[in-house]
Amino acid sequence: MTRRTLVVVGHGMVGHRLVELAVERGLIADGWDVVVHAAEPVPAYDRVGLSSWFRGTTADELSLVRDGFFDHPALDLRLDDSVVSIDVDARTVTSRSGHVTAYDALVLATGSTAFVPPVPGATGAHRFVYRTLEDLERIRAAASGARTGAVVGGGLLGLEAADALRSLGLDTTVVEFAPRLMPVQVDEAGGQALRRLVEELGVHVRTGASTQRIEETGDTLRMVFAEGEPLEVDLVVFSAGIRPDDALARSAGLQVAERGGVLVDDACMASASDVYAVGECASAAGRCWGLVAPGYDQAAVVVDRLLGGDGAFTGADMSTKLKLMGIDVASFGDAHAVTPGALELVWADPVAGVYKKLVVSDDARHLLGGILVGDASAYPVLRPLAGSDAAIPGNPADLVLPDRAGGPVGVGAAALPGSAQVCSCRDVSKGEICAAVTDGGCRDVAAVKGCTGAGTVCGSCVGLVKELVATELDGLGVTSSNALCEHFDLSRAELFEVVRVKDIRSWSRLLSEHGRGRGCDICKPTVASILASLDNGYVLDGERGTLQDTNDHMLANLQKDGTYSVVPRIPGGEVTPEHLIVIGRVAKDFGLYTKITGGQRIDMFGARVEQLPPIWKRLVDAGMESGHAYGKSLRTVKSCVGQTWCRFGVQDSTTLAIELELRYRGLRSPHKVKMGVSGCARECAEARSKDFGVIATESGWNLYVGGNGGFRPRHADLFLQDVDTDTLVRTIDRVLMLYVFTADRLQRTAPWIESMDGGLEHLRAVVVDDSLGLCAELDEAMARHVETYSDEWADTLADPERLARFTSFVNAPDVPDPSIAFVEERGQIRPARPDEKPLVAGPVLEVVRS
Ligand SMILES: Cc1cc2nc3c(=O)[nH]c(=O)nc-3n(C[C@H](O)[C@H](O)[C@H](O)COP(=O)(O)OP(=O)(O)OC[C@H]3O[C@@H](n4cnc5c(N)ncnc54)[C@H](O)[C@@H]3O)c2cc1C
Ligand code: SF4
Repeated sequence: MTRRTLVVVGHGMVGHRLVELAVERGLIADGWDVVVHAAEPVPAYDRVGLSSWFRGTTADELSLVRDGFFDHPALDLRLDDSVVSIDVDARTVTSRSGHVTAYDALVLATGSTAFVPPVPGATGAHRFVYRTLEDLERIRAAASGARTGAVVGGGLLGLEAADALRSLGLDTTVVEFAPRLMPVQVDEAGGQALRRLVEELGVHVRTGASTQRIEETGDTLRMVFAEGEPLEVDLVVFSAGIRPDDALARSAGLQVAERGGVLVDDACMASASDVYAVGECASAAGRCWGLVAPGYDQAAVVVDRLLGGDGAFTGADMSTKLKLMGIDVASFGDAHAVTPGALELVWADPVAGVYKKLVVSDDARHLLGGILVGDASAYPVLRPLAGSDAAIPGNPADLVLPDRAGGPVGVGAAALPGSAQVCSCRDVSKGEICAAVTDGGCRDVAAVKGCTGAGTVCGSCVGLVKELVATELDGLGVTSSNALCEHFDLSRAELFEVVRVKDIRSWSRLLSEHGRGRGCDICKPTVASILASLDNGYVLDGERGTLQDTNDHMLANLQKDGTYSVVPRIPGGEVTPEHLIVIGRVAKDFGLYTKITGGQRIDMFGARVEQLPPIWKRLVDAGMESGHAYGKSLRTVKSCVGQTWCRFGVQDSTTLAIELELRYRGLRSPHKVKMGVSGCARECAEARSKDFGVIATESGWNLYVGGNGGFRPRHADLFLQDVDTDTLVRTIDRVLMLYVFTADRLQRTAPWIESMDGGLEHLRAVVVDDSLGLCAELDEAMARHVETYSDEWADTLADPERLARFTSFVNAPDVPDPSIAFVEERGQIRPARPDEKPLVAGPVLEVVRS
């Protein structure tokens, strides 16, 4: 059989998907060889997840190409060798290196280029776009010598870029031409809510700002706008939209759409025979799509056509969810209510920063679309419901209104019809996911992802996939999987059990015996926490240091200006004058800002990395220790003065609080844990808003569990009444240890208790009546923790190797970070605003964090 050649131009997300489909769907077996020309020097990577590179995801981890994939003899990947011309008559392409390749079919997958507005001064040094790994490398290098940055464009990508600049420590401004952020996706009210959330992150926002020109003024750039004050910044990132990369197609004489993009029909065929275009370079079904999911659909259509099928691309879902740390924004379906007769249901809570709008049909029976700002937890279920045939279950208002306890009523996966599209990136329906479990033998989320592709691109549907898998497995009578992440099939609780029973002390052993791959942001800190819970050893030694998240990594809390805060433990809020004097002297000598926290201790802000050891030396020498404000562990035990001083007090709440705080300090747990002790029912310590609350009674103590403050405040529930101190402490020991043993990752005590079959009653049976025979083990584990506790900062100071990590610049250890500057306010320091910072002179140093 004569083999035919398919040439793919562009090895981006869609080009690579097409090659994968060619293998999966039998095109190779059908006699085709595939030659891929890539302009970039690296194989295809996850551009959607590009920003995670700034959070430590490596280029290898972003790669979309499985090890050995291109070893197949029918596949030929030519990196860093872009195609420079196409001869549609001779049916050949010529590459930059001079290769001429004849094709039987040609697919253009050249993607887009970032749009840079044609204003004077838009190009030159310190001006960047945000599209490729190389762009990000350039931005990071430039940011190391900069203090301020601007992002031109307040859309989806612009906000991602702004978040990246912020994470690099730059004082960042987003400049948006439209009157609101994300103008395409959200409406005016949603834009206002989003703006508040973005500003809370410390990013400045200028909307309605039309950049007229960018001037070079010495080392900085001055952005001049049609109206308003100019903005001086050290670097500018353009993220003001994309333009289809159709230059190659134009020069080959292919037709392009009026607004750009290779014009294709519904078979994705361009204006020359056997030439196709897919992804962002194509204008298909009347437009360029700008998201990855439509490109994947187009790739599937082309492979189908090459196999003799009649697949067609007729349009795609444009739902989007923002991937900013800490900001929930989603827009889906007919978000702007353009459907004739559409009705809008709006719920706004400006105090909580939540705005929700649902668009429903004129008879209020069908969901058409929506906008969610501040709380997009319902997005995975609402998005597939929108535009589906399924009627809204119950009253549509329930979908947006919070219930009386503060949580949304929402709608479950069960309400979705089988045809509802759960994963829009890979076009996977609920029916396909369910079938993968019932007919395909998949027994966990990872298997369903592997089999259907659902959840493998932007990841926003993974929660819903998990729910569907669990429901289907329940229906089959199979116990469902709670796999922690793709690298471990076990849940956090199961991993904890494995580590405990097998006495595993290292990440590499756990990964090699029970996991796969290299680990991720989910499993690494979880395993670090488990290892720390079971073995009070130093949390940063050896490979354990590489598992920790940012705060644990420096044993301090990272603040928004790149400095750290220092919080010594003040058990029960009781502090001696000597310790107050030491704290005051340290703050004065190191120029730190001091504030009393809600947990009754003193936080010192503004410390540079290299100042942490000398600060802690002074505190440790004076008999103080780490307050673990940075860890998922016990924070504080807040107390009132109680019986000793207060006329109303009936027990000594301060002494008990101190005992509890010293007992549980440093115990790593699935999430932070807070406690409170009040000396009488007047509750001055607000103990019922804590995970563990103790309130004194005439004859002893009442214990409450499962309370929290935060976004959805919850009062703790009464667990024990009128017990003596020993019983109280023993019970807290057991509940806390059981929580450490069995809770999910990042699960606070309240949802942990709610998730138990039998809830509070079950918990009481386990820890009070010992219904599972676990109490001895829980007691022993807590006794071991108490015996082996050691202060992390004292341990750090005692070891020069451990101290070595506390430098600003690894390649210049004695140089403080020049981008940090303060001004005085109310007799203390505060971070300087950009216009208040001194200019940084001297050589530019690349920041290399250890
Ligand atoms: C920061 C960021 C975040 C994003 N977030 C999302 C998101 O949340 N959801 C979403 O759906 N989409 C998102 N996108 C968009 C998504 O990445 C694109 O839709 C997707 O990458 C398009 O794939 P593509 O293959 O068409 O283009 P690309 O991935 O851009 O690939 C095109 C490739 O072709 C190469 N090329 C160009 N010309 C030639 C030539 N002549 N010869 C050889 N090679 C050539 C280019 O160098 C490039 O490598 C995001 C994009 C960015 C930059
Ligand atoms: S809770 Fe009771 S004991 Fe404690 S300070 Fe308030 S009134 Fe006094």
